[in-house]
Amino acid sequence: MGGRPRSSLAGLLVALVVAAGCAVGGVSEPEGQQPAPPRPGGGSSAGAERTRADGTTSVAEFRQDVADAQSIAERYWAAQFRASGQRFRPIRRIIPYQRAGEVSCGGQPLPRNNAVYCSAGDFIAYDVNWSVAAFRQVGDAFVFYLLGHEYAHGVQARLGIRYSYTIQQELQADCMAGAYLGDSVRAKALRLADGDLEEFREGLLAVGDAPDQPWFAEGAHGTAEQRTESFFRGYERSLAACDLS
Ligand SMILES: [Zn+2]
Repeated sequence: MGGRPRSSLAGLLVALVVAAGCAVGGVSEPEGQQPAPPRPGGGSSAGAERTRADGTTSVAEFRQDVADAQSIAERYWAAQFRASGQRFRPIRRIIPYQRAGEVSCGGQPLPRNNAVYCSAGDFIAYDVNWSVAAFRQVGDAFVFYLLGHEYAHGVQARLGIRYSYTIQQELQADCMAGAYLGDSVRAKALRLADGDLEEFREGLLAVGDAPDQPWFAEGAHGTAEQRTESFFRGYERSLAACDLS
């Protein structure tokens, strides 16, 4: 991951705040979705330690990063569940979309510039154009964060974790995303390049709520400081730091 020169985050600020919508809920199956992106394993030794020639920002590379992030997340969470004697069911699908309303969650059309976990259909959906733009602006590490965050919402759903306030749900997902990445690095399932940690930090600063957002508001995710603190708490201290039990 990483190593690519980073450009200004300014253009990303607004988009990412919206993107952190993370709609959870709904009751019906999504409709009109595209086929899921190709799964890892077709060739690459799924999520094995790998280095990548950074400097290209192709859609193909983006898709590979998404696929890698997915396969590493699946194996990570399967191992965590196994360790506590439970079987893990991977999130059913990861769906890229391009147009508003192309994918729905529980009857609610998903807007552009967003990435969500939909518990109704047990899938993650993301606006592929928006995500590729973020990938190009922030760097590839951010793809792993974003996927890790949405994946964490799927794990929360499996564990029956439902906080009263959105912000608690979101900060815990940031912590879990940090744990998944930190533990995967320690297990050598993932290798960070110079600058990747800085990419996480910059990306998290970009997704913080505006200062005037009340913490108890529906949709609140936490300030940049809170999100960064949660992510790195998980990254450094693993799931024990995420209040999962
Ligand atoms: Zn979220």
